[in-house]
Amino acid sequence: MDDAAVAGVRVKAVGLGIPGLIGSDGLIHSSVNLRALEGLNLAELVMERLAIPVVAANDANLNALGESLAGAGRGLDSLVAITIGTGLGSGLLLDGRLWCGAGGFAAEFGHTTVVPDGLPCPCGNHGCLEQYVSAAALSRHGGGLAPEELAVRAAQGEPQACAAFETLGYWLGTALAGLLNTLNLQGVIIGGGVAESFGFFETSLRHTLSQRTFSQIAQGVVIRQALLGDDAGLVGAARHAEQMAE
Ligand SMILES: [Zn+2]
Repeated sequence: MDDAAVAGVRVKAVGLGIPGLIGSDGLIHSSVNLRALEGLNLAELVMERLAIPVVAANDANLNALGESLAGAGRGLDSLVAITIGTGLGSGLLLDGRLWCGAGGFAAEFGHTTVVPDGLPCPCGNHGCLEQYVSAAALSRHGGGLAPEELAVRAAQGEPQACAAFETLGYWLGTALAGLLNTLNLQGVIIGGGVAESFGFFETSLRHTLSQRTFSQIAQGVVIRQALLGDDAGLVGAARHAEQMAE
């Protein structure tokens, strides 16, 4: 049987989304949550078994590509797609193309320093945005309550729960302001589990942006909730593989 045939469909190429720094050499240079992958060239290993082109890329980058093709980023030429979950993942599109940077490591927005000498981060830095904007960070802002519980309480108007989301919006807005002032992006797409509570931190996010960016930049940017959920990464990986196989 043809190795590259799945249920009668001819597979041209395979795209892999991996959490970590994937170099343009294909190596997984760092994966702080999946250390066992570090130093591997997973695409090469899979390609040896399938005998068709296999490409690997950062999962958050592929998520951004997927949202831009078929989700909340359709029609936008430049955007950052942020996933707020266990950590803070992000991918960047400039002029309709995924921006991977000089070495392939671009768009690690979650590791932007927002608090010099702040909380330690697994990346080795202190005060990274991810330590202030993630599910765990939200829980910390809310006195240790789970994000789901905070969402229920915020919906009931409980001040401490509302304040936890506002704090998250403040930190996200602070870091985003720098990115928007630098790149003047058309769109910001926000996904991940915490984004389901977007309504609770949208006002503080927009308020912080309006304070910290040029008004022309803040007023022009579209901020939307992601539409595709986990499917965004699948769409992005398929498109990325297709482009590589062309
Ligand atoms: Zn970090």
